[in-house]
Amino acid sequence: MATNTYAVEKPVIQRVDESILQRIGNTPIVRIKNLGKKFRNVEIYAKLEWYNAGGSIKARPALRMIEDGEKSGKLTKDKIILDSTSGNTGIAYALIGLVKGYRVKLAIPANVCKERKRLMGEVYKAELVVSDPLEGSDGAIRMARKILSENHDKYFMPDQYNNPSNWKAHFDTTAVEIYRQTESRVTHFIAGIGTAGTVMGSGRRLKMFNPSVKVYAVEPAEALHGIEGLKHMETSIRPGIYDENFLDGKISIKTEEAYEMVRLLQEEEGLGVGHSSGAAMKGALVLAERIGKGVIATVFPDSCECYVTTGNFQRYSTSQK
Ligand code: PMP
Repeated sequence: MATNTYAVEKPVIQRVDESILQRIGNTPIVRIKNLGKKFRNVEIYAKLEWYNAGGSIKARPALRMIEDGEKSGKLTKDKIILDSTSGNTGIAYALIGLVKGYRVKLAIPANVCKERKRLMGEVYKAELVVSDPLEGSDGAIRMARKILSENHDKYFMPDQYNNPSNWKAHFDTTAVEIYRQTESRVTHFIAGIGTAGTVMGSGRRLKMFNPSVKVYAVEPAEALHGIEGLKHMETSIRPGIYDENFLDGKISIKTEEAYEMVRLLQEEEGLGVGHSSGAAMKGALVLAERIGKGVIATVFPDSCECYVTTGNFQRYSTSQK
C-alpha cells in the first residue's frame, strides 16, 4: 500500500487575537541599507507603521485616547467620538469606534484623498464633515471645535493636538519597541511633526532609556506644502502637546525632496511609503551626513496606498528613465 511520504506539518498557532485592535503596535523595523550605504558608520532603521490595524501610526494614539477616555468616564456609549483629522487618525477612530460600538464624526479638509474618505465614511462608517481645503488641517480643527461648542454634551472630543494620551501612546509603545528592536543601540530619533505626538512621546521615553539619545523633528520647509500629515509649525495652530525646547534640532524638508525620497525608497528598498515617510527618510539622511557615526531610528507613518491616485505621487514615483 502506498504511503504518503509527505509529512504535513501542522501550523503552529502562535496566538489568537481577541480583536483586530490587538494588531495595533509591535510593528516591524527594517534597516535602510541601500539609501544609507554611503555612510559607513551610520545605521538607519525605520519602523513600518502601516502594519498597524487601520494602516498607519495614528492607530496607536487613537486607541490610547479612546481607552483613556473610557477609563476617565468621559467617553460613554451614548457619546459620539468627534475630532479633526487629515485622515489617518480618522481611519483609526472610525475602525476603533466600529469595533467598540461608538459612533464617530470626523472633520476633515476637503482635499483628503478619496481612498481615505471612503475608508472613513464607507468602510468604517464614520460621519464626515468637510472643511475648506485652503485652510488645511487648521480649518478642520476649527470646524470640530465649532461642532463641539454647539452641542457639548453630545460628543467626546479626544482633541489629538492637545491630549497627553496622544504622546503617551508613543512613550509606552513606539519608543519601547524601537529601543528593544535596535538592541538599545539607538543614538538618534527623528520623526515628522503633525500633532507632534510621535516625536514628543517616543523622544521622551528614548531619553529616559538613554539620556544621550538625540531627538530631531522633521518639518515641511514651506507653509504651503504637499507633505500630507505634517505641519509647518510657524504658520499653523500650534499643538498644545508640542514643546519645541525639548528637541535637539529640527530639519526642514522641501516637498520635492520628500517626494523624491518616496521614489527612492520604492526603487532602492522596495518600500511603498507615503509622503511623510519620504520626508522622514530625507531628514534621516541629512542627520546621517551631520553626525558621521551613530544609529538613527525613524518611523514611516503610512504606506503609498492612499497616494497612488494623486497626480503628485505619479509625478514623483516614476523615475524618468
Ligand atoms: N505622517 C502622517 C502620514 C500622518 O498622518 C501624521 C499625523 N498627522 C504624521 C506623519 C505626524 O505624526 P504626529 O501627529 O504624531 O506628529
